[in-house]
Amino acid sequence: MHSSVILLFCLLLVLCAGQSVRAEGFAKTKVGDLDFICVQDAGGEFDNTTFAADADLLHKLAPSGKTPNSCSAFVVKGNGHTILIDTGMGRKMLENLKAAGIDPASVDAVLLTHTHHDHTGGLLAGDKPNFPNAKIWINPKELDFWKSSNKAQYEKAISVYGEPNPIVADEKTDIVIPEIKAIAIPGHTPGHTGFLITSKGDKIFAAGDILHSGTIQFPHPEINAKFDRDPAKAIESRRSILNRAADEGWRFAAAHLPFPGIGKIKKNADAFQFEPEK
Ligand SMILES: [Zn+2]
Repeated sequence: MHSSVILLFCLLLVLCAGQSVRAEGFAKTKVGDLDFICVQDAGGEFDNTTFAADADLLHKLAPSGKTPNSCSAFVVKGNGHTILIDTGMGRKMLENLKAAGIDPASVDAVLLTHTHHDHTGGLLAGDKPNFPNAKIWINPKELDFWKSSNKAQYEKAISVYGEPNPIVADEKTDIVIPEIKAIAIPGHTPGHTGFLITSKGDKIFAAGDILHSGTIQFPHPEINAKFDRDPAKAIESRRSILNRAADEGWRFAAAHLPFPGIGKIKKNADAFQFEPEK
């Protein structure tokens, strides 16, 4: 390599160190001392008919009849661990993890927000684990739901990964590392769980499927997706988390917000606004 090219490369590395990096398929930021990386599995759109609300209101919010989405997972790297939060469906997850510089074999924990296929489908490639050195962590209520809702996938995952570690969603118990605590956000599924990650005073909440369309649900948090299993609880959890994120200044990351889905929440009476990070 020509010496001027090497020099330019070194300069770029220095410029990137400690700052946010955005590329196709992944986006890196820092949360205090930790790396926090959004890894995209797939992009897409939700039809307005996905949402349980009056068609006129939905049309007003999303006149094209669709809103953009993503299927993303998040990596927390630091303190000696590489931790994956959800796994996508298994489309571009491995490819984009590798592009972000993360060897799937280095992932030592997979935290599941819940067990719908778009969050668990990336655990396995056929009968083989995509993360051969990882332990699964899951809320026991969600483990029961997995057993009853998708027994075949549950049995295969457990036979490959072994018995999962239980997540205690009390906001006090360490989840792998002291910087991660779990918060129960039931409604979408019975054991739906989010993760609050704190380092050096910086906080980010990995919110699972607390919402599915920013366009529709930030201004109208009372609107559920039709597949929110317990509608009343889903609304209660959504309002509670969005209020806390706004009041306590948390950064917010959600699997289905358009990539990379990381930003700040602002409150305006009963509604919310999302300010994506650049
Ligand atoms: Zn989902």
